[in-house]
Amino acid sequence: MSVSGKRSTVVFAGGGHAQLYSLLRTRELTKKGFEVVLVNPDRFLYYSGMAPGTLSRTYRPEEARIDVRHLVEKGGGRFVEDRVKAIRARDGIILLEGGGSIRYDAMSVAIGSAVPGDGLQAPDNAIPVKPVENVIGLRNRLGKLEENSLGYKPEVLIVGGGAAGCEVACNAKRAFEEHEINGLITIADRGGALLGSAPGRAQTEIHEYLRSRGVKVLLDSEIIKVEEREAYTRDGRRIDFDVAILAVGIRPMEIFGRSGLATGGDGGLWVNRYLQSISDPRIFGGGDAISLRGESLEKLGVFAIRQGPVLFHNLQAYLRGEELKEFKPQKIFLYILNLGDETGLAIYGPLVWRSRLAWRLKSYIDTKFVREHQYP
Ligand SMILES: Cc1cc2nc3c(=O)[nH]c(=O)nc-3n(C[C@H](O)[C@H](O)[C@H](O)COP(=O)(O)OP(=O)(O)OC[C@H]3O[C@@H](n4cnc5c(N)ncnc54)[C@H](O)[C@@H]3O)c2cc1C
Repeated sequence: MSVSGKRSTVVFAGGGHAQLYSLLRTRELTKKGFEVVLVNPDRFLYYSGMAPGTLSRTYRPEEARIDVRHLVEKGGGRFVEDRVKAIRARDGIILLEGGGSIRYDAMSVAIGSAVPGDGLQAPDNAIPVKPVENVIGLRNRLGKLEENSLGYKPEVLIVGGGAAGCEVACNAKRAFEEHEINGLITIADRGGALLGSAPGRAQTEIHEYLRSRGVKVLLDSEIIKVEEREAYTRDGRRIDFDVAILAVGIRPMEIFGRSGLATGGDGGLWVNRYLQSISDPRIFGGGDAISLRGESLEKLGVFAIRQGPVLFHNLQAYLRGEELKEFKPQKIFLYILNLGDETGLAIYGPLVWRSRLAWRLKSYIDTKFVREHQYP
């Protein structure tokens, strides 16, 4: 409650991975007298760790999603199906694309990120891996590509050989096999190795694995232009395709700069170690949307989920004038790539391990997490 006796409103802008901890505990907030509002364009959040697995049918799409609307409403909060267009901090309100506005006393922003379009000309038929719903829709799209009677094989071009690009390639390969399509998959990356920021052993493992699965890997191949059915590298080579997938990295949405809030170098909401905006102390944020002062965090769900409890605590502590908690990013974390054939590539600091057990571990962690949020 606020001092005036009016209920304080806690707004969750975007129902991203970083909000799940709080959304699951909506009842705790409403019981304490807070009004809770979630704004998200869809009632479902697709869990990114399982999204590539829907391509290989390791999971059905329904198994890989969380009903964030249900989470908030079950706890007595309000769900608004809309998008935040801008934040007007001087009045303490957010403006919605649908035309309305919502007042906040404290807010947590986790609206995720987008695949940057700058520097690369691409038509509408090039599919970005963000939002992850795009990856969910790919299986059907690949299934419709058929080898023609002249022996022409459908081709998929994946632009970007980071973790998302490699996982999508592995699982797309499996999707082709299941649809009995003799398709070709190519990954093109501008760098000299796949998984640019991973240890050398992980880079070699994934490269060898992809080659063994018949995926063509083109390194030192920066794609600068994607047309209807062909792409061009900076040095003028042409690559034909039927479907192009853009996995060239991610960057925060442009809302923050547009709203006059301080942003980091990548355009993310600039926050201090309490995940609190430098511009407006009522605003907190997590996940891909933020730039954490003094750190350069990879845009990973691992961090978003770890920020959840800190956001939950700090929203309440701020409204009550209590001490805020610091977010301390873990230096070493476990990342496991789903290779689409019930094996996984696990990376933990310098340690790299490819096996069936790695995949089982990933699947256990991911499905347990999603189930806990699906049936609370
Ligand atoms: C293919 C792929 C696989 C990945 N696999 C992994 C993995 O295995 N492990 C890992 O750690 N990371 C993985 N990542 C990274 C991970 O997806 C992100 O780091 C994580 O989703 C970030 O969570 P978030 O809370 O920032 O927001 P997100 O989970 O991205 O969610 C953002 C939410 O905000 C909504 N939204 C967007 N714009 C607005 C708006 N204007 N107003 C209101 N709501 C809005 C969206 O609809 C969405 O519901 C993967 C990424 C990709 C692309």
